[in-house]
Amino acid sequence: MDFIHLLPDSVANQIAAGEVIQRPASCLKELVENSLDAGAQRVQVIVRDAGRTLLQVIDDGSGMSETDARLAFERHATSKIKEAQDLFKLRTMGFRGEALASICAVAQVEMTTRRAQDETGTLIEIHGSDLIRQEVCSCPVGTNIKVSNLFFNVPVRRKFLKTDQTELRNLLTEFYHIVLVYPKVSFTFVHNDEILLELPAGTEKQRIEAVFGNPKRNVYTSAFVDINTDTEMVRIHGFVIKPENATKKAEQYFFVNGRYMRHPYFQKAVMTAYSGMLTGEYQPSFFIYFDISPEAIDVNIHPTKTEIKFADEQTVFQILMASVREALGKFSLAPTIDFDHPDPLDFPQPASKPVSQPQVTVDPTYNPFRTRGAIYPDRAPRNWENLYEGLPDLQNEPGGLSLAEAETCPLWQYGGKYILAPTADGLLLVNQHRAHVAVLYAQFLGQLKHTGGATQQLLFPEVLTLTRDEMVLVNTLLGDLRAIGFDIEQLSPDSYSIQGIPAQIASLSAIPVLQDILLRVHDRGADTQTEWREQIALSLAENAAIPYGKTLTEEEMRDILTRLVQTANYRRLPSGKTIVSLLSDEEIGRRF
Ligand code: ADP
Ligand code: MG
Repeated sequence: MDFIHLLPDSVANQIAAGEVIQRPASCLKELVENSLDAGAQRVQVIVRDAGRTLLQVIDDGSGMSETDARLAFERHATSKIKEAQDLFKLRTMGFRGEALASICAVAQVEMTTRRAQDETGTLIEIHGSDLIRQEVCSCPVGTNIKVSNLFFNVPVRRKFLKTDQTELRNLLTEFYHIVLVYPKVSFTFVHNDEILLELPAGTEKQRIEAVFGNPKRNVYTSAFVDINTDTEMVRIHGFVIKPENATKKAEQYFFVNGRYMRHPYFQKAVMTAYSGMLTGEYQPSFFIYFDISPEAIDVNIHPTKTEIKFADEQTVFQILMASVREALGKFSLAPTIDFDHPDPLDFPQPASKPVSQPQVTVDPTYNPFRTRGAIYPDRAPRNWENLYEGLPDLQNEPGGLSLAEAETCPLWQYGGKYILAPTADGLLLVNQHRAHVAVLYAQFLGQLKHTGGATQQLLFPEVLTLTRDEMVLVNTLLGDLRAIGFDIEQLSPDSYSIQGIPAQIASLSAIPVLQDILLRVHDRGADTQTEWREQIALSLAENAAIPYGKTLTEEEMRDILTRLVQTANYRRLPSGKTIVSLLSDEEIGRRF
């Protein structure tokens, strides 16, 4: 069965006309949107010379039948709407049925496409709207469109293109607008054989990080505050940056129903929420997603425009502003460190600027703060140990085995990786590296919370140069870094000097360890002291633990096991990875 049909003229005329393809970036947008409309999970973009000579999009989406493949290049051929009514219920990205027709009019297009249920695919080549060939081919499921020599027959347009650098930037901007709303789809972007972006499937936060995580871009997801507001009219969620992480050049994005939009009025709402919290020309980065009934927005917009009209902009303005303000208010108590404070461990301290409660002046019949979901839906659970409650408990199993038995029984090492201990109930297998991580983790955490750690002075102090955001992060962690044994002093606005490191990791180099800590704290979005202490302890533990492949003496193995038994969570690491496992008598018996 074929899906594509021609739109009646009456409908076609209701659709905003316009030139769809103005530059390589608009071509890329249409192609990638088609891939997403076709349900692709993986989209590869291959570009040459900023799209001038080649723009190729490969997807693993639905593909097209032979008939549809040909029809797809007809104007107003679309599988996405049938009647004018449908225009108001749009959820897919493309709907006008004119993109491919426009593209093939101004370029040399070669497409191969195949549906899962077909054994063979279709190859179509069209140059400037002329069909060059159409034949059966063998190709993977999905669609592969190659657009070569864009505007080869429109010299004026070609001349109108900017430098490769500018056009490439336009391509990437268009690409960001799309990938930020499809975090579950994996994307790659290759330009002149160089992989510029490799974006695995993940959460929204991970996607933002993958796109902008370059420290120089100053967008750090650990600096984000979640916003989440659900009202009858609109659901708003996303991330706004903490005021102290504002930058001169910020990344500011609005999306509505899965589409990027520019909205200067709503931008003002966000800025109003920040008022009094920003200094000078610093701007907040934000990524804000609106979900609203399609009837409440005007989707019948010019294809190349990104402005979107909301039916009730004032109410949405108020809800948005209140939502951002509420989120910032919640975090105004985030710990900050006073450099001149005598006791570096004495925090959290309340921030100097308390934020007033959000005030909403909208229809009093609904509550804009009827939020849904937790503040950090994608955050690692806090009491991870509880997650494993109810799992078979080694110690309490019938005829129970105590790990403590391993203190006296003979021990062997297997494969440079496991410690083996024969016990009454079976063969106990212990992952040597993980066991040591667990032991050290407990130890470092104890030092952070109670005793502090010893310092090994360095013969040659090292200098750690950091970006603005990393400096902010180090400042936050400074008290705990010193407590655990780092002797570290700020040297200049963008560097620290390291004079000593925790004695237990004396054999490691300080800088990579510190960088690892920053990365973890940042990746985990650890913004409470409890959370970042866990990340510091875990980082040190993993760096210092005995590696796989290391031969251990029986004493060393016994030492690890004895100490493992004493840790509260000896079964699993915070990540959930198993440390100990029992091969029961029964299981062994079954093998013979
Ligand atoms: P629209 O997306 O507005 O419907 P297009 O000209 O972009 O119009 O595409 C025309 C039709 O071709 C689409 O409706 C769709 O059925 C089909 N099509 C285009 N690209 C793909 C693709 N990558 N995978 C599957 N079908 C596609
Ligand atoms: Mg389309």
